[in-house]
Amino acid sequence: MTNLNSHNIVNHIEDIFNRRGAESYLGEDVTMSQHMLQAAQCAKKSGADDSLIVAALLHDIGHYQNEIPETALAKGKNNYHEEAGANFLEDYFPLSVVEPIRQHVATKRYLCAVRPEYFELLSAASIDTLNLQGGPMSSEEVIEFEKNDYLEECIKLRYWDEDAKDSNRICPSFSYYRALIESLVKN
Ligand code: FE
Repeated sequence: MTNLNSHNIVNHIEDIFNRRGAESYLGEDVTMSQHMLQAAQCAKKSGADDSLIVAALLHDIGHYQNEIPETALAKGKNNYHEEAGANFLEDYFPLSVVEPIRQHVATKRYLCAVRPEYFELLSAASIDTLNLQGGPMSSEEVIEFEKNDYLEECIKLRYWDEDAKDSNRICPSFSYYRALIESLVKN
C-alpha cells in the first residue's frame, strides 16, 4: 500500500470504491458501494451538512480491512468494522465525520433500546448482526451513549444506513462527492 497522506487519501478511498465496491454487503440485496452511495444520497436529500454526507458515504469503509494501513488497525482493540474505519479516517477527517462512523453499530443497539419502532426497519441480516453485536443497549449503556457530542448525527446516519439497502435505487456515483470529500480533509 502506498503511504497515505492528506493529498492522496481521497484517491485511495475512490480506488477502494472502484476495485471493491461490487462486493456484496452482508447478506443484503445491494453491493457495498451501492449501500454507501445510497446512504450518502439519503443524507444529501435530508439536507445534512457536508460532514454527515461524507460520514454516510464512508461509514462502512472499515469492512475493507486489508485496504487500511496496519498502523490504523493497530490502534483498535477489536477491529470491528466501525472501529477500524473510524481509526483509519480520523487521521484525515474531523470528528464530525469520524464519530458517527465510529458509533454506527452502537447507535443501532441504542435505537433498539429507546425506539421500538426503529427495530421494525432492520433487515433480517441486520437483526442477525445485532445479536452478535450485543443486542439492544442496557439502560446504563443508554445513559452513557447519550453523552456523545454527535448523538443527533449518529441517529440520523443510522436511519440512512437502514434505508440504503434498495437494489433498484439509482444514485450518484462516488465522483459526485469527490470535491466535497476533498474539502473536509484535514491538512
Ligand atoms: Fe451500513
